[in-house]
Amino acid sequence: MKILTCIAFTLLLSIGFLSNGFAQQKTENLIVVTLDGFRWQEFYGGLDSALLNDKEFTEHPNEMKAALWAATPEERRAKLLPFFWGTIAKEGQLHGNRRYGSKVNNANRYWFSYPGYNEIFTGYPDTIINSNDKFDNPNENVLEFLNKQPGFQGKVAAFTSWDVFPYILNEKRSGLLVNSAWEDLTQGQLNDRIRYLNEIQHEAPELIGGVRWDFLTWQFATEYLKENHPRVLYIGLDETDDMAHEGKYDHYIAAAHKADKWIGQLWQMLQSDPFYKGKTTLLVTTDHGRGDADKKTWKDHGQKVPDCNQIWFAVMGPDTRALGEVKMEEQLWQQQFAATMAAFLGFDFKAEHEVASKAPVVLQKP
Ligand SMILES: [Zn+2]
Repeated sequence: MKILTCIAFTLLLSIGFLSNGFAQQKTENLIVVTLDGFRWQEFYGGLDSALLNDKEFTEHPNEMKAALWAATPEERRAKLLPFFWGTIAKEGQLHGNRRYGSKVNNANRYWFSYPGYNEIFTGYPDTIINSNDKFDNPNENVLEFLNKQPGFQGKVAAFTSWDVFPYILNEKRSGLLVNSAWEDLTQGQLNDRIRYLNEIQHEAPELIGGVRWDFLTWQFATEYLKENHPRVLYIGLDETDDMAHEGKYDHYIAAAHKADKWIGQLWQMLQSDPFYKGKTTLLVTTDHGRGDADKKTWKDHGQKVPDCNQIWFAVMGPDTRALGEVKMEEQLWQQQFAATMAAFLGFDFKAEHEVASKAPVVLQKP
């Protein structure tokens, strides 16, 4: 009997030891949201007066001013992004305010979408990923990696407005659920709202080729979440980038403002569902920046536009200390997100290609 107890005790100890380090994480579910090409300048400073007061970019400056203008960057950003600055700033972390020396950058040298999303999800700024063409990504991504882990199979899903994601995430190889652009949702448990979305999305105007309106993408994703309880959900929004390319600053701002509201509603939904409450981490970021406003180059991005490798991110959850807006010198890289996402869920993301190391600052216990 003594021997048995001893064996049992040793077993317990070794199980405890094995799971130690990773199982300490409280995060069981992960939500990732991206706002394509949304600048850190607005994220940290709110409305940019140079673009607001330029007739070429803002059709109705007075209405925008009335709604979102204030004297200080802190007040302006709180008006533009009330959930980020009201909730994440209190309970989570916001990185990338270069005014305080907090720097987050693309490691890839291209500074546009496919290379950015490849970097976010594979942790590897591969130089062969250098166009936005629809070609299957040879690199394994962290969503695909997670989808293979015990307890995560069929529990990882991506909803995106842009129709290149099935290639970025290599849906063919990965077998992930990637619902992009104007695709109907036919996988998983459906409900009446999903069936209705499948119907009405085809009635929406298609203003920009290959891109679904963000509100439809968001509705699909959140209805899927309610019905299927994915453990990892990625939502890729696109309107900020589309409207910037169009030179419509007011619409670019409106898109970010709406995204903030939706993310806030989603967070509230998660906290009222026992499946997610207190065990879900949220990560929000962008694929690239778009340089400075006064140079009139903000509509575009890529190597020819200075500084659009400057990005930001926000994170909140049970394993993240509430540092709020980070006001210290640091240098973080987009390529660190993939390993960081896996680490939140207790996994060490390894692939056949190199994977950049995780960002310890967001994983330190509260
Ligand atoms: Zn773009």
